Amino acid sequence: MEPNLDPAAVGLIIRSQRASKALSIFISSNSSACTVNLRNRVISMWTDSTRSLCKPVIVLVLAFAATVKLSHSLYRYKLLRRSRTHSGTMSFTSPPSENDNESPRRSRILSSKLYFDVPSSKVPLIYSSTYDIAFLGIEKLHPFDSAKWGRICGFLFMDNVVDKNSIVGPKEASKNDLLVVHSEAYLNSLKKSADVAMIIEVPPVALFPNCLVQQKVLSPFRNQVGGTILAAKLAMDRGWAINVGGGFHHCCGGKGGGFCAYADISLCIHFAFVRLNISRVMIIDLDAHQGNGHETDFANDSRVYILDMYNPGIYPFDYEARRYIDQRIEVASGTTTAEYLRRLDEALEVAAHNFDPELIVYNAGTDILDGDPLGRLKISPNGITNRDEKVFRFSRERNIPIVMLTSGGYMKSSARVIADSITNLSNKSLIDTGKNTTST
Ligand SMILES: [Zn+2]
Repeated sequence: MEPNLDPAAVGLIIRSQRASKALSIFISSNSSACTVNLRNRVISMWTDSTRSLCKPVIVLVLAFAATVKLSHSLYRYKLLRRSRTHSGTMSFTSPPSENDNESPRRSRILSSKLYFDVPSSKVPLIYSSTYDIAFLGIEKLHPFDSAKWGRICGFLFMDNVVDKNSIVGPKEASKNDLLVVHSEAYLNSLKKSADVAMIIEVPPVALFPNCLVQQKVLSPFRNQVGGTILAAKLAMDRGWAINVGGGFHHCCGGKGGGFCAYADISLCIHFAFVRLNISRVMIIDLDAHQGNGHETDFANDSRVYILDMYNPGIYPFDYEARRYIDQRIEVASGTTTAEYLRRLDEALEVAAHNFDPELIVYNAGTDILDGDPLGRLKISPNGITNRDEKVFRFSRERNIPIVMLTSGGYMKSSARVIADSITNLSNKSLIDTGKNTTST
């Protein structure tokens, strides 16, 4: 089998062979000269028999010194090569390192239009009608309520929790924004309707022209991504922000899945690192499913602490990503409200002890609801309200800005449950929707 030879290694071998040859000539010529000099100096002290031993000894010493010198040269070359390979300037086989990605990533973030000034009269509740998916009725083939986001806001307006004109509409994430985390190859794969169909788990979508898929499915997702990214800025300004959408926690930079086409959580955090000048973020992921997307993206990144409370008996069974969870709380199928909330209390106490974040990203999926066919947990609507209140209190008591994302929650009842929970947060003064005085 032909070995896969690195050209740099081939060069080294040739240079080493040439060096050895030159060295042996050098040793042999210089050893003769040395021998003559030394012979003159020791001739009066040494007998003929001693002199006959002198030459091979000196040759040995010089050969030893030359070997040491050659070893040092090889060692220095190895070090140089390793450092060049590490910085990516001379690598033929290694992928670009983290540092190589940082510079273009930073300039993309700095040139983004997703962060913009929001008037103080607005409430940091983010939503746009562009979030909702309507695809010629095809969306009904998925158990997902694809108009959930609009229905949540509808309940909030109807219940007079927030004024329709007070909420914030985000901008759609551009390709330049998405490249902050995603690879070009992954974004290109979304130009194939069949690939999108696999990610969102609606096979008939594979039959539609990609321009339609972009417009009806991916564009709503990109608007929600814009909302998640903006939410971090608003949370730092106001102490909290809720994106009534987002939370696509199964998608990482190079791969989508589980109805998640873009890695909005990873994008939000990278934007926050650069634009908000922070370096410690805690993800509290309480969706029923394991958040393997952000876990993969922030594997071994000490700036991000991940608390993930999930059912290990359902999708995505990503055992590799589980290794990157800092605090893993596994809740088995059938877990009920009291047990769930007790374990959440314990988990938050441990998290507070372990990490001191400057921002919390709370992935508040409601697929833990009793009756959800995908989450398989048995948490009551009141349990959801209590859960969200606990996480917001955790943030408020420590004065840590919090971003909430609605994430999974696939039943028609989810929108009502989420709206009720946001109403409760407002009633408990954990968020200020500008309506507290009239709603209580
Ligand atoms: Zn989920």
